[in-house]
Amino acid sequence: MDFDPVILSIPIFFGLILLELGVEYFSKNTTYDFGDSVSNIGTGALQQVSGTFVQVLTIGLYAAIFQYLAPVKMPNTWLTYVVLFVAYDFCYYWYHRKSHEISLLWGGHVVHHQSEHYNLSVALRQSSTGFLFAFLFYLPLAFLGFDPIAFAFVGGLNLLYQFWIHTEHIGKMGPLEWVFNTPSHHRVHHARDPKYIDKNYAGVFIVWDRLFGTFIEEDERPHYGVTKPLNSWNPVYANVVHYVDLFKAASKAHSFGDAWGILFNKPGWMPAYMGGYQAPASVASNYRPYKTDNMLLVNMYLFVQFVFALGIISLYLFRFESMPMSLKVVLALWILCSTLLFGVLLEHKTWAYWAELLRLAALPLLCLWMFDLGLLSAFPTAILLFIGVFTVISIGLIFYFIVTKIYK
Ligand SMILES: [Zn+2]
Ligand SMILES: [Zn+2]
Repeated sequence: MDFDPVILSIPIFFGLILLELGVEYFSKNTTYDFGDSVSNIGTGALQQVSGTFVQVLTIGLYAAIFQYLAPVKMPNTWLTYVVLFVAYDFCYYWYHRKSHEISLLWGGHVVHHQSEHYNLSVALRQSSTGFLFAFLFYLPLAFLGFDPIAFAFVGGLNLLYQFWIHTEHIGKMGPLEWVFNTPSHHRVHHARDPKYIDKNYAGVFIVWDRLFGTFIEEDERPHYGVTKPLNSWNPVYANVVHYVDLFKAASKAHSFGDAWGILFNKPGWMPAYMGGYQAPASVASNYRPYKTDNMLLVNMYLFVQFVFALGIISLYLFRFESMPMSLKVVLALWILCSTLLFGVLLEHKTWAYWAELLRLAALPLLCLWMFDLGLLSAFPTAILLFIGVFTVISIGLIFYFIVTKIYK
């Protein structure tokens, strides 16, 4: 793909997050939690990186259908793009709705809803397995003859639109609320209060919810998150926990039909002998979101490592097409380990501090490999020196944390 609006918008995403943090600093009205934001951005990074391995299959299947099975091809005009934008959003509505209504598909979407906060970092919180189901809902667009490049472009725009609506700092927006998905409508969608659950599935146009009976207006302030709180910052666990629960439950079913029902009925459905349908409970008034307390020094260490890793992740996303598969795989694994360890370090797991030493030691080797391949060419000596000093100081700090156990 020559132009991916999502990857190109990464600096804008972080700029807007900084702006929201600035607004909160001056208004003393904070919606961010450090661990939650690290976990949100970590899952987003994992989704983008895993996407570089699967887009060949998803876009490839779309392109093959467009090429060989579409009876007519749409002309490359602005009107086609407008029609495709609306048609894409219609498909998104149904993909999103079914991802909430079918338990197996919920596994590919639940990650986006696990945050118990609501801010722009939550928009980046995305599942790495959603592609397994999502692309099926868009294949009709290939049959209708919409070009794959236009499809990818419009899909990126749709996702971009959904970024800014993840904020508590914008109230109701007057007549726009009738047509468009807005922060108010989407806050409801992220709620786990029973009256708000399974409402407002819209991507860009809220009219789909109004048409198909899934719209609800925001009145009381929502409680955010999922009915079974994740209670973890680990992005890998976040991605797999629902599937693990689902297959454990299905393996206990007494018949194939019941196992099928657990997988394909709505989340929470169980046969009567396993307790029956687990309806969402209302949120206790004294409920507090999951939180971990960390030493300031540990948080500062994690923040610096996180920013540094985001630099490597950005480099990967901008340059992966020119990387050999071996480097692509190793770099993706390093990114996976980084996001995993940032989450687990925040949970004070001692083993994670030892594993962090290995992750740090791998960093200069990876950078040398990238230099060797010409992927890091500007000011090589200065960068190499910086990475060397950075790694040595980081390893020293980790030893200090392990010896003193100050993270406990
Ligand atoms: Zn959703
Ligand atoms: Zn959302």
